[in-house]
Formats: sequence, structure tokens, C-alpha cells
Amino acid sequence: MNTPKAYIQTFGCQMNEHDSYRMVEVLARQGYTMTEEVDEASLVILNTCSVRQNPENKVYSLLGRLRRLKRRDAEVIIGVGGCVAQQEGEKILERERCVDMVFGPDNYFRLPEMIAQVRQGERVLATKWLPRAADRVQNFVPEEWVERGHVEGCKAFVSITKGCDNFCTFCVVPYTRGREVSREAANILREVRDLVSRGAKEIWLLGQNVNSYRAHDAGFYELLDMVSQVDGLKRVRFTSPHPNDWNNRLSDLMAERPAICNHLHLPFQAGSDRVLEAMNRNHTIAQYLDKIRYMRSINPTLELTTDLIVGFPSESDAEFEETLRVLEEVQFSQIFPFKYSPRPGTKAEKFEDDVPREVKEDRLARAIALQEQITNARMAAYVGTGQEILIDAANPRFRHAMNGRTDGFRPVTVRDCDAEIGDTLNVRITDYKQHWLDAEVIAEAMV
Ligand code: SF4
Repeated sequence: MNTPKAYIQTFGCQMNEHDSYRMVEVLARQGYTMTEEVDEASLVILNTCSVRQNPENKVYSLLGRLRRLKRRDAEVIIGVGGCVAQQEGEKILERERCVDMVFGPDNYFRLPEMIAQVRQGERVLATKWLPRAADRVQNFVPEEWVERGHVEGCKAFVSITKGCDNFCTFCVVPYTRGREVSREAANILREVRDLVSRGAKEIWLLGQNVNSYRAHDAGFYELLDMVSQVDGLKRVRFTSPHPNDWNNRLSDLMAERPAICNHLHLPFQAGSDRVLEAMNRNHTIAQYLDKIRYMRSINPTLELTTDLIVGFPSESDAEFEETLRVLEEVQFSQIFPFKYSPRPGTKAEKFEDDVPREVKEDRLARAIALQEQITNARMAAYVGTGQEILIDAANPRFRHAMNGRTDGFRPVTVRDCDAEIGDTLNVRITDYKQHWLDAEVIAEAMV
């Protein structure tokens, strides 16, 4: 008998990527193998994101194309999971007859049950949240799955919190991922140790607001400290921290522990205190910059990246200039800038979206242009330096070339390299193109 094939398309953030990996494992236990060809799949899942409008539009346009698949073979099961599924729920089933199941982020471990229901002729809607424990501590990964996480190459993701209680006015996450809960540190460590024993060299700790993690046995500081000392683990990354919950103790820990990567993605969103208040970010830009200055004072090579929004309702030209000033001062390695657009169900949806489209576009272009100059200078400064990189993939374009990352998260291509995924190499940076560094292997670390 042919093994059934499943196709999963993932939109959005690392959290969704992680959820998709979990689905791969859940489906593998049901006998499914994965395929990259949607046409040969008997189960198709779109794992959706509603943080930006684009992924949402893409999902609907993809569903339009999937109708054809269903017409050709009525047995094909089509599922929509993730944040759009949580938010739109029944509307998706009403709008797209080809969809058999719609399930939110708290429900993917129930896939076997949902598939069985579909096979019995039902259309499934599964968007209920797991009940939140009163103390907000909950081992939300089912016990049987704690030691069955997915290792992709040499990396693995581990959720330490889920949901968010911050309610930034522009953000859908508290509505699509629910209120925040944290897993016990012991439960997380069990998962990390298991992943490392199965080949993970780099672990990403995930949460919508990762550093507000608080369980009975540890806060984020203690958890990061413990994970960074797991035997056999080379690198720990985490995303995304909130500036409010960041403190100098965490900066000290990052600087002290070799396994904690030298990269922090710390979203600042806007340079103006008035805009930050309208966004409900609960900190001022001076507080943000103080934390950055401290980090840089103890660790000058720290790579910082950020998210920012331009054209938030009522943002003036002068307020946007403050955002540019933050870029100039911090000298991020990379930024992820977005034009504001209202997201359904958020508080900011009720604000007047009064910054004209052309102004938003102009601000976006100016932020990108400034950052390009900064990135270019930062990349040029790498040339000639020695770096330790973790090899994570074969280079798809060049023979005998491998790709890896510095611990500051810079992507690197190494030519004439016979290393394997998961190897750590000492390299010398020889050149760069846009965001990529080129390197050659050297025998020993350069000091
Ligand atoms: S901290 Fe704000 S932006 Fe981040 S997930 Fe929570 S509500 Fe959204």
C-alpha cells in the first residue's frame, strides 16, 4: 500500500514554523510522509499567519487554487491551521467549500482525531483554547510529545511560552494565540536534552514575549542560564523578547555564557514616546536606549536587530524622524520595517488610519535606505575578521560550498568546504554581498 503524503505550507513567524514541525511529527506517527509537491498529497495543510495582511490574502488565493485539487480527487483532505484559522474560524468553512478542517494553534496535536472526523464525512472546526491555569503555568505540550520534538538539520525550536498578555494596540497575537502561559522549566529542559541527544546543536527558545516567561521553578533568566549549560548544546537563541521585560542582568548573562548567541532581536517599533504610548508598548524610547547602551558597553560586538512600524495612526513627520534617530544611534545589523495597516479585531483598528499611503511608503523607503547604509558598513567591517560558524545547510548554488551562521546570526557561505551540517568551523571572512558573508576555512580561531 502506498504511504499517504502530506503537504504543509507555512506562513509567518518562527512560532508557526515550529508548529508545522510539530505537525510533521504528529502526522508521521499516523503514517504520513511529507511531500513538497502539493499535487501528490492526500492531506494539504496551510499553517496561516494574520500578523500582516499579505499572508492572509495569500492563504485565500491558495485556497482558490486548492479547489482544483479537491475537484480532481474528493478524498484529498484540506486543512487550514494557525492564526487566520483561529481568527476567521467558521467563515473559512463558509467561504471555501474545499476546506475540510479549520484549527487554531492550540489544536494541532488533535490532528489524528480531526482527520478521522473528516474521513467520516464531517467538516471540522477546532478553535477552542486550552483552558489557562490560574497561575499561568501550564505544560501545554502534551506529555507524549515532550520528547518527540522535530530536529531540522542541526536546529530545533522549543516553545517556552504561548500567547501574550501585552495587547499592543496594533497586534492580533493575544486574539489568535490567546493569553500567555509558561511551561515549567523542568519540562522544557527535558525537551531540550532530548533534542540535543537526537542531534540538535542549536536550540531556539520561542515565545510571543519570550522574556516574560515565568514558571514556578524559574523566570527567563534562570531558564536561559540552565538551557545554556545543557551538555552537548552549542548555541541557544531566543525570540522575541520585549524591551519592557529586558534588564541588565539578562545582558550580563548573554555576555558571560558562550552558548548564548551574540544576537538580540529587540523590537522597538517606533522612536516617539507618544506613538509608543498609542501602541501600548509600556516603555519610553529613553528606557530602550539605556538598555541598549548598557549591552553595548559590556559587549561591543553584540548584533542587534529590530522590528519597526512606520505610519502608525497620527504619526507625524517629526515623530518618524525620531525613529530614524534610533536607527542611527543603535546601528542595528538588520531591521524588519513595516507600513502600518490595521488588523481586524485590534484596538488600533478603531484609530483613524490617517497617514496617507504615499507618506507611509516614503517613510518606509527612508528607513530602508538609512538601514542599507548602516548594514553595508557593518558588513564591510566583517571582512578580514575570524568567526566561528555553525554549518546549517549545503549551499544550493555552488558545489563544495556550505552555508552557516555566525553566532551574531550573520549568514555565511564557505567555499571549498567539506564540513557537514552541525559542524562548527573557524573561518575568515573574505567578502560580502548584501546580507551574506563569504568566508574561507582556517585551521584555528583568529584572536
Ligand atoms: S508583545 Fe505586543 S507585538 Fe508582541 S505578541 Fe504581544 S501584543 Fe503582539
